[in-house]
Amino acid sequence: MRIYNSKTHKKEEFTPLVPGKVTMYVCGPTVYDQIHIGNGRTFVSFDMCRRYLIYKGYEVTFAQNLTDVDDKIIKRAREEGKEAREIATTFSEAFIEQMKRLGVLAPDIRPQATHEIDAMIEMIEGLIKKNHAYVAPSGDVYFSVRSVETYGNVSGRNVDELLVGARIEENTDKRDPLDFALWKAAKPGEPSWESPWGAGRPGWHTECSAMVHKYLGTPIDIHGGGSDLIFPHHENEAAQASACWDTALANIWMHAGMLRVEGEKMSKSLGNFYTVQEVLDKYPPSALRLLMAQTHYRSPMDFSFERLRGAVAALEKLQTTIQNLRWFATQDTQSADKPLISVVHKNGDNRLEKARKDFEAAMDDDFNTAAALAAIFEVQTDLNKWLEDAQPEDCASRGYACVAADTLEELLSILGIEAVHDSDDDSESENLLTLQEILARYGELCDANTVPKLLQALSSLRDEARANKDYATSDALRDELIAAGYSVEDTAAGTRIK
Ligand code: AMP
Ligand code: ZN
Repeated sequence: MRIYNSKTHKKEEFTPLVPGKVTMYVCGPTVYDQIHIGNGRTFVSFDMCRRYLIYKGYEVTFAQNLTDVDDKIIKRAREEGKEAREIATTFSEAFIEQMKRLGVLAPDIRPQATHEIDAMIEMIEGLIKKNHAYVAPSGDVYFSVRSVETYGNVSGRNVDELLVGARIEENTDKRDPLDFALWKAAKPGEPSWESPWGAGRPGWHTECSAMVHKYLGTPIDIHGGGSDLIFPHHENEAAQASACWDTALANIWMHAGMLRVEGEKMSKSLGNFYTVQEVLDKYPPSALRLLMAQTHYRSPMDFSFERLRGAVAALEKLQTTIQNLRWFATQDTQSADKPLISVVHKNGDNRLEKARKDFEAAMDDDFNTAAALAAIFEVQTDLNKWLEDAQPEDCASRGYACVAADTLEELLSILGIEAVHDSDDDSESENLLTLQEILARYGELCDANTVPKLLQALSSLRDEARANKDYATSDALRDELIAAGYSVEDTAAGTRIK
């Protein structure tokens, strides 16, 4: 498989450092507020990469930090009259909760910056010893950018050009405007830790290099983050590693493109953001992931609610196809007790094999999720056509339907998209009769008009739920109808039941 390396500006054949194993680090959030769907895009993109690497059989070790000490956290704490620690705890928990809702797999290792101060101090000491860092009179410790020949390699920048653009700070004791803080001397009222240079706290760039080195060892296979982190954050992380341990920090640097709203990067400072929380309160996480997968991770992605609603519709169609296949697989008009033999239909098998091959070829080409999804949509169309003429009496066809549904679910799950609705998660429903049971028990007693009227009522209820964006209810009603043997279509005029 090939992965685009931001450092070389090329797609490179992926060869892990240790055969069969992959070490991966994706910079985590600064926990001072709820994350927005722009942040979510970066984390979902890397989750899809990680899931695909696991699918390919790699043993992936994935680490992600929580930046729980930072100017933004301190500022928020001041505004709210709280301790910085309280703010960091609240939003670390919120982040973990929202990632879970988004279906992002939890990292194998989740270090918190404030718990790793020793590792950071050790790295800074190493840098000072090797003359790559110096202690300023204020007690700040700075990294000496010009002491590293390779500085600029990750972001493709040149030190002299950087100098032209560098902000000349007042009241600084940096020896060179390009230098950056590894350790910030304590200011009154700020969180601080003891160090050989007096009380203070680590700089942001310090954290990631020290944690990568401690938990994964350097170099790692893949280092990721949003493209806004390439400079200075990733450049500085890499410089620290090469200066301290004489190694690259990572073999491959991957960067996700920015999520935009009306052409502008979604960001807290511009105020043009939607939190993951507010979006997932209204829309299914799988629809948001499907929308994200429709754009290649490196390209900028334009977000709109109209596009998200389009993804909801596409997701529902996938769910319907899978449910129809599952329903078909359980139909046997001849004898209800005959066991279902999972025989794969010869012609049909090619269709599924082709879908899997196309999916893999797309993902092998720098995780092209958009092309991978296209392969899923293509086989979905084929399967819908196939279902129109398939004969439930034929046990090979029923077996095929089952394998087809499994294949669709499996491929979607590599993108973290769940196409199955768990309509049984409401424990109260255990005591209620399903539509299928009602019809089985009372159907014969009903007069000719009762069943159509009941269906009409259910269809109206579903339309109402959809109009209110209550997709849980609309999906539950659809599941009920399908389980009772009806097919349910969403048309411009509303729910159509056949
Ligand atoms: P931060 O907490 O600001 O460091 O952001 C956490 C992650 O979200 C980083 O990897 C950023 O690059 C990424 N990020 C921030 N804004 C966006 C955006 N609009 N689109 C995609 N990723 C973003
Ligand atoms: Zn980082």
